[in-house]
Amino acid sequence: MTTEQNNPISFEFFPTKTDAGHEKLIAAAHVIAAEKPEFFSVTYGAGGSTRDRTVNTVLQLDQEVKIPTAPHLSCVGDAKEDLRSLLNQYREAGIKRIVALRGDLPSGMGQASGELRYANELVEFIRNETGDHFTIEVAAYPEAHPQARHFEADLENFIRKARAGADSAITQYFFNADCYFHFVERVRKAGVDIPIIPGIMPITNYTKLARFSDSCGAEIPRWIRKQLEAYGDDSASIAGFGTEVISHMCERLLDGGAPGLHFYTLNQAEPSLAVWRNLGRS
Ligand code: FAD
Repeated sequence: MTTEQNNPISFEFFPTKTDAGHEKLIAAAHVIAAEKPEFFSVTYGAGGSTRDRTVNTVLQLDQEVKIPTAPHLSCVGDAKEDLRSLLNQYREAGIKRIVALRGDLPSGMGQASGELRYANELVEFIRNETGDHFTIEVAAYPEAHPQARHFEADLENFIRKARAGADSAITQYFFNADCYFHFVERVRKAGVDIPIIPGIMPITNYTKLARFSDSCGAEIPRWIRKQLEAYGDDSASIAGFGTEVISHMCERLLDGGAPGLHFYTLNQAEPSLAVWRNLGRS
């Protein structure tokens, strides 16, 4: 799937715990695949909590749904030996792209026990182990990572990840295009020119979105919150309003030079595709 200017579009899934959930994921992936995205990606539970499910989902999307698929890989809580063996498994299966992250250990898993502390160290590790085999994506935070001391420290961290060998970046989601433009401008001023793809979260469920946004540091503007609150349980109105708001933001991002879009699908095809169709660029 490409935009008018041939910008790549990609879609993220998470590995499910149940067979029924997995079937839904694969069905959604087939619907999205018809639009020919550049790649899919599959999240990884830090500390290896989804290791087998992530691997199986990646291989099925890549080999059966036939869209190049990128595993997420996080270093917190994983030993180098585990990371090495996963990298080899992916390389042997013909996987060419990795999303390299620090990760957040799920609550209850205790303190981080991995040998690598931050994503820049993981990028370096992947380059040392596998050379140029993988295209490496890293995370970017236009509104700053919630644990960062301040914006400048987080910006420096992003630059460190790029200099460690990342080829490209995907942002945390946001609802304010200006924060993306500001972040990109600051990165360019530092002399780093890797593509920074906006991560796009369709709006479908206000309660879940508000909870998740609190934990990952994504700000929901007051006017959006107030409108979503007013809709209560009216999911059709939430979806309609959400599609309109997100489509408008995507339009601004692409018109302003964003090199593509990465959709957080939450394993559903329709919310992301509704935005995509609204853009009228397929
Ligand atoms: P890092 O880049 O290592 O940064 C983490 C924090 O540490 C930042 O605050 C940074 O400023 C700070 N920092 C970095 N280096 C140093 C240093 N040397 N000294 C002091 N502070 C430092 N999580 C998962 O568990 N699984 C996933 O599959 C997953 N996929 C994601 C995909 C995308 C596109 C994004 C944006 C996030 C994803 N996450 C995932 C969430 C991510 O793991 C968390 O946001 C995590 O807290 C940070 O990961 P990172 O790779 O950005 O870490």
